[in-house]
Amino acid sequence: MNTVDNFNFNNKRALIRVDFNVPIDKKTFAVTDDTRIKAAVPTIKKILADGGAVVLMSHLGRPLKKLKEDGTVDYEKHSLKHVVKRTSELLGVDVKFATDCVSDEAFNLSASLKMGEVLLLENLRFYKEEEKGNEEFAKKLSAHGNFYVNDAFGTAHRAHASTAVIAQFFHGAKTFGYVMANEIKNADKVMKQAQKPFTAIMGGAKVSDKILIIENMIDKADYILIGGGMAYTFFKAMGGQIGNSLVEEDKLDLAKQLLEKAKAKGCQMLLPADSIIADKFDNDAQLSSCENFEIPQGWMGLDLGKKAIYDFREVILKSKTILWNGPMGVFEMSNFANGTIEIAKAIVEATSKGAFSLIGGGDSAAAVNQFNMADKVSYVSTGGGALLEYFEGKELPGHCGGDRVTFS
Ligand code: AMP
Repeated sequence: MNTVDNFNFNNKRALIRVDFNVPIDKKTFAVTDDTRIKAAVPTIKKILADGGAVVLMSHLGRPLKKLKEDGTVDYEKHSLKHVVKRTSELLGVDVKFATDCVSDEAFNLSASLKMGEVLLLENLRFYKEEEKGNEEFAKKLSAHGNFYVNDAFGTAHRAHASTAVIAQFFHGAKTFGYVMANEIKNADKVMKQAQKPFTAIMGGAKVSDKILIIENMIDKADYILIGGGMAYTFFKAMGGQIGNSLVEEDKLDLAKQLLEKAKAKGCQMLLPADSIIADKFDNDAQLSSCENFEIPQGWMGLDLGKKAIYDFREVILKSKTILWNGPMGVFEMSNFANGTIEIAKAIVEATSKGAFSLIGGGDSAAAVNQFNMADKVSYVSTGGGALLEYFEGKELPGHCGGDRVTFS
């Protein structure tokens, strides 16, 4: 893959699309998880070390969709000014800030940057043109630099102005950053070079969100372990009694088809044998456990049971490649976090014995971070939706230097 390593940035002003879409504290506006900023540091440092200057652009949240109660845009909540301090600390450089991404002031600031300096532009999504992939807007943005670097893996599945459309305005002066290269390198260890046995662990609330990825994994994986809320749709499809557990009634046929397809292709799809059940969706609910075919009325499955953990652990420990996406239970509530913790522990153990383990964004990444296990697995992806689409076998539109971000 074409990356910043293939170029010398001496005297260049690089416009980098980063993913600084980080969680911000509602009251203090402090950055509460700087993983994505940290991830972008090596690309920025490489350009500065070459003798270049850097203009950073990103989105933060969905300001035009998540309006205030009075219907106006919440500029304060969605301002990237809140990440300036943390970015400066991590880079060891005082980062300048432009209060708009395409104002005259912003262009004056980028034009007057000295080599070694860094400027951050205000949230691109304050303009509807960004998400619409507007060409005029992309062209305007392109004037901030004479070299384009795409390092925003988290938005690589979106054909937005700053992630895809803009690349056409940089002839021969565009490339991917290290975040993008790393994400793809690690995803390809699963998608293209998986050592067998290869186990995909799928969890989370809904089967409907994971259909395409499960279908694609049936073709590639030796085992698929299904956990979380989505498992109950499979049990109901097989004629089980699932009480008040989460179910997608309109996906029962599909669940059956997935089970049949897996069987036909020789992929072992394992469902959890039992569950921790509760009489309400509450951490203080009454608890019990039972087999998943026989959950009583008035009770719901909210976590893996003992036998399910045992079975899943056995498979994980004999795997050489492991992909995990989606929690095994309602891990946000302490009484239903055990299954997710035990599966994370089994992945850590398999990794220490030489397996390659990739944790795929979103809630599963949050879970391994919460349990302090992130440095004990092989790779934790920074991109949720982008990684899922990659594993669904789709071509991502994040575009640069003539390369398309593809995973299949
Ligand atoms: P997803 O975004 O599809 O990966 O789903 C993550 C969410 O699924 C988390 O918020 C979990 O609390 C939720 N979840 C996991 N297991 C269950 C379950 N058994 N019942 C209800 N929700 C669940």
